[in-house]
Amino acid sequence: AAVDNATAIVVGSGYGGAVAALRLGQAGIRTLVLEMGRLWNTAGSDGKVFCSTSAPDQRSMWFRTRTEAPLATFLWLDLVNKDISAYPGVLDRVHYDHMSVYVGRGVGGGSLVNGGMAVTPLKSYFAEQFPTVDADEMYGTYFPRARSMLGVNTVDPAWFESTEWYQFTRTSRKAAANAGLKTTFVPNVYDFGYMQREAAGTATRSALAGEVIYGNNQGKRSLDKTYLAAALGTGNVTIHTLEKVRSVTRASDGSYVLTVDRIDTTGTVVETKQYSCTYLFLGGGSLGTTELLVRARDTGTLPDLTSGVGAGWGTNGNTMLGRANHLWDTVGANQATMPVMGIDDWANTANPVFAEIAPLPMGFEHWISLYLAITKNPERASFSYDSTSGAVKLGWTPAQSAVSVAMAKKLFDRINAANLTIYRYDLFGSTSKIFADDFTYHPLGGCVLGKATDDYGRVKGYSRLYITDGSLVPGSLGVNPFVTITALAERTMARVLAEDTAP
Ligand code: FAD
Repeated sequence: AAVDNATAIVVGSGYGGAVAALRLGQAGIRTLVLEMGRLWNTAGSDGKVFCSTSAPDQRSMWFRTRTEAPLATFLWLDLVNKDISAYPGVLDRVHYDHMSVYVGRGVGGGSLVNGGMAVTPLKSYFAEQFPTVDADEMYGTYFPRARSMLGVNTVDPAWFESTEWYQFTRTSRKAAANAGLKTTFVPNVYDFGYMQREAAGTATRSALAGEVIYGNNQGKRSLDKTYLAAALGTGNVTIHTLEKVRSVTRASDGSYVLTVDRIDTTGTVVETKQYSCTYLFLGGGSLGTTELLVRARDTGTLPDLTSGVGAGWGTNGNTMLGRANHLWDTVGANQATMPVMGIDDWANTANPVFAEIAPLPMGFEHWISLYLAITKNPERASFSYDSTSGAVKLGWTPAQSAVSVAMAKKLFDRINAANLTIYRYDLFGSTSKIFADDFTYHPLGGCVLGKATDDYGRVKGYSRLYITDGSLVPGSLGVNPFVTITALAERTMARVLAEDTAP
């Protein structure tokens, strides 16, 4: 096959990929970004780019015939999921044996589907997770750089206290306070000025119209509007969409050669291409990057990759749950989809948990408080290559999920006891499951910084091969991860551009 050349190739266009693309482009390096998802900029027949959460269509999920929303049921009825036609939709749920992982697909990766919560971890916990990284430099330079580029802002506290759209959050805050727990405001990349205009009726509703996991048509500063727009603006960056990198090898002249499948919107491979580059940056996310490298090592296309590749994966301790409030503690029919507050019990060394107060916008009063708990689960799993099927498998077990559940349960048992309330049993399938222990929004690790790579994301065993995404984070962060992933990528790019690409 003919080989297309670029100086640098970036695989994936999520946080890690977007930072790499911008900084390479600014350095004058001709860069090609390969993204398996589509570009989300064209309206469908309903005049909207993304479909709604309440009436999902083909745009919702990645090649599915039925949606797989995190909340499977309500009152045990399968009200939430809908039949759809197969299409490269924006949200994927990747199934492993005992864990499934939600990820974004498209130009912007996870930024297209996530809740926008832009949290900087506690410095002491960051230092514990990244002992070889200079924390002062991170908190002095790279975290501020990431927050400013991402457009992080905070809800106006006075508006928060008065608006019906955050009644659900205030009710959860009260329940936490009754148990002696502290809550904290959480910044976001959704434009809160825009949200206030939505509430006032002067702007088209997005966060106030239930939009989030299948994309926001307005208001959200996703990567296509921040880093990637700036990257394209350098004139040195090109993005190819619906192109999935299948394998990587190294040619005798030291260049990397990628085999890439280009698909159409039915998922059919319409072309298999080869690209070659001098510098290769992997930003396929914890799953995408780790799968590529595990396969490359174990099929012998990059045989010098070390045993650190595929190891150290965790769920950030994610567990979702719902509580039933008393009839007089309403959560409101109207709920904004962007969370703005968390219950912060991370300092409780006996049971560290940070629980996001999550919305459940159903358009009617349901008295449910929903939470995404981030627990300090120390369990880690590895990926392995199965030569029979050619699949990369994840060794996570149900017992490892049970550790997260036990920690979340300790915290929420306290809240229920103090409020004389109970859990909801009807939200996560027909088995009266209280804790959603079978999925995560926060896949982290697989190619941990300092283990699979050096302390700057340079892959061990190979020169000019880098990782810039969530696979570097060692399985736990204590908060939502994208600000940290972005800041670490900024740090890697500053170092690599200063040291590795000088003529
Ligand atoms: P990603 O953003 O996942 O980007 C990887 C990209 O690479 C994707 O676009 C993918 O399609 C592409 N790709 C992968 N493999 C290949 C390949 N072989 N070839 C070509 N392209 C490939 N985090 C927060 O901090 N705050 C939140 O509020 C929050 N809410 C979330 C809500 C949901 C529903 C989900 C799913 C996630 C949420 N997260 C949140 C997590 C956050 O989105 C991720 O941590 C983040 O996107 C990871 O960034 P990344 O750069 O590692 O990879």
